[in-house]
Amino acid sequence: MNDNILHHLAAINDRIAAACKAVGRNPGEVRLLLATKTVPAARIRLALEAGQTLIAENKVQELKEKFAELEDIPHENHFIGHLQTNKIKDLLKYNVSCLQSLDRLELAEKLHQRLLAENKEMDVLIQVNTSGEDSKFGVPPAEAKVLVQAVAALTTLKVKGLMTIGLFSADTEKVKHCFRLLRHLRDEIAAAKIEGVEMKELSMGMSGDLEAAIAEGATIVRVGTAVFGQRPTPDSYYWNENVG
Ligand SMILES: *Cc1c(COP(=O)(O)O)cnc(C)c1O
Repeated sequence: MNDNILHHLAAINDRIAAACKAVGRNPGEVRLLLATKTVPAARIRLALEAGQTLIAENKVQELKEKFAELEDIPHENHFIGHLQTNKIKDLLKYNVSCLQSLDRLELAEKLHQRLLAENKEMDVLIQVNTSGEDSKFGVPPAEAKVLVQAVAALTTLKVKGLMTIGLFSADTEKVKHCFRLLRHLRDEIAAAKIEGVEMKELSMGMSGDLEAAIAEGATIVRVGTAVFGQRPTPDSYYWNENVG
């Protein structure tokens, strides 16, 4: 069963191209990341064989379960889930090149200690809660710059930009507001020219709102459902501190 993954990937790439064209951006500036939570390795493999290069999990346990099955096929792993400090050691076993969900200094400090011990470095994006919803992780917008400054002092962590999950709303203007806020923060922090910090990446936009995110400057869009289909587990399982 190769289900419809290839078809869906083509449709997503068309959406990205159209969204870029609508605002005069080059589609080469927008990277497609596949959010693979709940998706079996065999189906992820189909996407990688079709030329996809960037995937991300939300839970270390799933990363671990699928790692061996995907190891032989070249690709890049990011991590986009809420990371508990007791999972850091495990995370570092699975070739994750970028933690997109860095949202607190305690996590950064513990990650740094572990990376130092293993003589490694890691790219990070700072996750910002642009929607103000309690259910979403991320540093409040007003605290993002201070967090970037603190993380910049940790030599193993390379800050590359910001990440957010937009508001779930049918009101496109409200959704765009989240993405615009992230872009403004990125520009503001970039202007501060913090040593060692690159403020290039804006990881924002998912299956339902990638057009709005691209219009506001997304450099990475994270897509799950539109490629792999509906997930069996509600997202609250992945996005809420108290479960899982
Ligand atoms: C699941 C997930 C996505 C993808 O969401 P879809 O709506 O399925 O495209 C993107 N970002 C994060 C952080 C996720 O957990």
